[in-house]
Amino acid sequence: RAGKALFEAQRVGRGKVITHGGYYASPAAVRDGLTNGEFFLLFQPVIHLSTGATAGAEALVRWQHPTRGLVPPAEFIPLCEASGSMQVLGRWVVRESIEAAADWARRDRSDGQQLSISINASARELASAGYGDYVLDECATVGFPPSLVRIEVTETDFGTDAAAVRDNIRVLRDAGVLISMDDFGTGHSSLSRLTEIDLDVIKIDRSFVGAIDDTTDSPVADLTIKMAAALGLDVIAEGVETKAQARWLLDRGCPYVQGYLYSRPVPSDEFVARFVEEALT
Ligand code: C2E
Ligand code: CA
Ligand code: CA
Ligand code: CA
Repeated sequence: RAGKALFEAQRVGRGKVITHGGYYASPAAVRDGLTNGEFFLLFQPVIHLSTGATAGAEALVRWQHPTRGLVPPAEFIPLCEASGSMQVLGRWVVRESIEAAADWARRDRSDGQQLSISINASARELASAGYGDYVLDECATVGFPPSLVRIEVTETDFGTDAAAVRDNIRVLRDAGVLISMDDFGTGHSSLSRLTEIDLDVIKIDRSFVGAIDDTTDSPVADLTIKMAAALGLDVIAEGVETKAQARWLLDRGCPYVQGYLYSRPVPSDEFVARFVEEALT
């Protein structure tokens, strides 16, 4: 069938080409997986570099598939995008993420710090009608402030349906939600594209951070930190794995970091124990 062939070899997601069968990520399979509790979220802390304080977390989805085992999102997200199941999965991710963050917010922190929640949105989700309203409705349902929600988008998300994407971004930003540009520097768009998008945060892709060591600089990371400061944007370096990288970023004034040096993505209860309650007196 032509439709099935298309599903199996479609250019999807972040420019990847799926060439193997993606039947296991069909809408029916994803719905069953959600019903059966096969999907779960992990949370990776976002750390304020100069103080070491936890500023928030990024939600990262996992699929514990009954026959395939633990499938990484880099594999199933593009398949979900291609098969049309990304909307249902994405909305589940939004609801679970905001519920988790609302739970953390109910635990008073002695330092008064309110933790943000960063949620990845893929192209199909961002272009779908009502996505922005859905995020805001979930905030209202659990009483979580939209200003603590960050939606992570990528440059490639603006390729098709840019008008629909912009509509959702406008709805979100009008309510105070922050927009983060994920994987910055890896897309095909230019600096002019960056100034066309209403942004609050830039995330330096881990490919640039990973290149840094005692003897190697990252000119791209350096320029991104300077550019973000000039544009009045916040910046987060992702994939920080070594103290040398953290020191390099601190020296250049990078305010926020994420990476295995601080923590791998962890379940919500572990995040609470290590990064929320740890800050209580
Ligand atoms: P991303 O948004 O760029 O997420 C960062 C990825 O880097 C995560 O991989 C994270 O586990 C990993 N990472 C964090 N710190 C380090 C480090 O120090 N070193 C290294 N080597 N890796 C680190 P993960 O969880 O496998 O997610 C991969 C991608 O899948 C994400 O990239 C994102 O594009 C996508 N994704 C994950 N969860 C979701 C989701 O809920 N919705 C959507 N639309 N996409 C998601
Ligand atoms: Ca991300
Ligand atoms: Ca990223
Ligand atoms: Ca990435």
